[in-house]
Amino acid sequence: MSAPKITIIGSINMDLVTQSPRFPKVGETLIGSGFHRFMGGKGANQAVAAARLGAEVTMIGAVGDDSFGRELCANLKREGVNTDNIHTASGQATGMANITVAENDNHIIIVPGANFSITPADIEAQAPAIAAADIILCQLEIPMECVITAAKLAKKHRKPFILNPAPAQPLPAELLPNITLLTPNAYELAISLGLPEDTPAETLMQQSPCPVLMTRGAEGALYHDEQRHVQHQPSFKVTPADTTGAGDTFNGALAVFWQQGMAEAVKQACAAAALSVTKLGAQGGMPTAAELARFLQ
Ligand code: ADP
Repeated sequence: MSAPKITIIGSINMDLVTQSPRFPKVGETLIGSGFHRFMGGKGANQAVAAARLGAEVTMIGAVGDDSFGRELCANLKREGVNTDNIHTASGQATGMANITVAENDNHIIIVPGANFSITPADIEAQAPAIAAADIILCQLEIPMECVITAAKLAKKHRKPFILNPAPAQPLPAELLPNITLLTPNAYELAISLGLPEDTPAETLMQQSPCPVLMTRGAEGALYHDEQRHVQHQPSFKVTPADTTGAGDTFNGALAVFWQQGMAEAVKQACAAAALSVTKLGAQGGMPTAAELARFLQ
């Protein structure tokens, strides 16, 4: 089978992670115990996941005209992602996530910066990259109007449109008919559909107007088959070291194996995501095609 062509429309962020013995009080200055930078953004993470598994990936997004933007683009290039369609937004800062880890918990502030400078007209201008792809993958870290435009273009060009609806927010009615597959966790599906957060997973699956593949952490995934029956893919047993990026690895892998049918694609995605949680960092644990094949032997 030839390498699938995947176009990913989404965010590119630098994650700045500060470790602290505890969270500071308002107005207080603390001495932290560690600092790390990670290349991130759901769009970029999913692009790296798909590229490592051998897909031909084109990333559509924006960075600022700053050192973070240049580093993030260089990282994507190194991973084999086509970065020609990443726009450098002058006067904007590259998107960043400011993460404080303390007391076995975290505080996160995301500043979208250049990611939110993308307009529906910018997406329209990318129609050739959508038309040339086998599959389109999108998340919700860019303006919703851009996601709506991307989904419409995908439909126009008869391309499957996978939406990973994260971070959670209600989905506009005009977007729903253009989604080929929604890939939320249970919380994201509830918020996407405007239902109570504690709605049981099976009920959420029944209520969704579009096909769903729901990730369930260590429990694996639930998905609609062609008859809209709910199927379960168990997770693969591993010793988790860091679950950051499991969902991104899952989505990237799903797009790579999409052409092999839903059941096989979900199995491969669960296996890739399981491998990803065994190593630190969102992109750090994303497997190559050879590592995934060996794991599944
Ligand atoms: P998100 O972080 O987006 O909520 P999940 O936590 O549901 O995503 O994880 C996505 C996928 O990663 C799961 O469907 C599962 O296949 C895999 N996964 C996550 N945590 C584990 C784990 N502890 N062991 C094995 N697989 C896991």
